[in-house]
Amino acid sequence: MAKVKFNNKDAVFFNALRERVDAYFKQNKIAPTGNFKLFSKTAILVASIVFLYVALVTEMFSNVWVNVFLCMLMGVNVAAIGFNVMHDGAHGSYSKYKWINEVMGHSLNILGGSVFMWKQKHNIAHHTYTNIEGHDDDIDAGSMLRMHKDQPKLPMHRFQHIYGLFLYGFLYGYWVFYTDYYKYFTGQVSENVPLRKMKTHEHIIFWVSKVVNFTLSVIIPIAFLGFTKFIIGYSILLFTGGVVISVVFQLAHIVEDAHFFAPDTKGLTVVEAEWAVYQLNTTVDFAPNSRFLTWLLGGLNFQVIHHLFPKISHVHYPEIRKIVQKTCDEYGVAYRTFPTMWGAFKSHMIYLKQTGQAA
Ligand SMILES: [Zn+2]
Repeated sequence: MAKVKFNNKDAVFFNALRERVDAYFKQNKIAPTGNFKLFSKTAILVASIVFLYVALVTEMFSNVWVNVFLCMLMGVNVAAIGFNVMHDGAHGSYSKYKWINEVMGHSLNILGGSVFMWKQKHNIAHHTYTNIEGHDDDIDAGSMLRMHKDQPKLPMHRFQHIYGLFLYGFLYGYWVFYTDYYKYFTGQVSENVPLRKMKTHEHIIFWVSKVVNFTLSVIIPIAFLGFTKFIIGYSILLFTGGVVISVVFQLAHIVEDAHFFAPDTKGLTVVEAEWAVYQLNTTVDFAPNSRFLTWLLGGLNFQVIHHLFPKISHVHYPEIRKIVQKTCDEYGVAYRTFPTMWGAFKSHMIYLKQTGQAA
């Protein structure tokens, strides 16, 4: 495996930034973890998903289009719990209490994933080696999508900006029914990243959560609704969730302006930038002024801030952003932001098209 090292010898930019961010929390006497905003959001998202589940399983509404809409809404709700509750919990930023972070992180297990697998892939592979080919499996979507010029090109990639969005829809179902098991049985997070050896309780949690999720999302709905209604509803839910999760993550790293990096296949490669500057080169923010998106996306529209300070809860990102912007201006570091989500989406589509057609 090729080793990648960042030039952190004199991390002048990040040291200054960290000092200012620390001072912000000290001066305002607030903790960098979650606050009432996050707890109330958690209550709303959990209440709404329970309501949607009961409404769909018991056929509270007879109109078929209402039910289709509710399935889509539930897909968005699943993604929102992932963005707001699970993601903060898994990074340890939801609460100052470790056990609360563990509980919140495990909301992913109820929704069909595995927080153990997620941490391996996300906290280590993705956060450290953002956009580095062979290390960051967020830019590795299998052979059907070419996310980076160093990935092999197939004739079909010419059309990937057309079928890409459709493929994204399969991400969630694929994850629940395939990816986690693949990692579990092969012991690999991605090509270059081995899975940490699992402890006994981690094996038990993995299997118990898969059974709980299967019971909630397959067995109970079939018992109430029969197979046909179930499979239509569940497919709509999985597809919507997949599109929302993929698009939100892709927009932050895979747009025209973001940089990619391919290390040598052998030996040690040094990235001639300090880690924090590298993060700013590979990541973008979008829609920073949209209160609705900031609420719904768990701060993932402030992905730059999240990558610089993953241990700070997303509810603080709008304020931290101001400090980062000011420090970037002073140190001459570019900070990329798309004013709207639509702008970032268009850029992502253009990127897919260019990468699919480039030599
Ligand atoms: Zn993260």
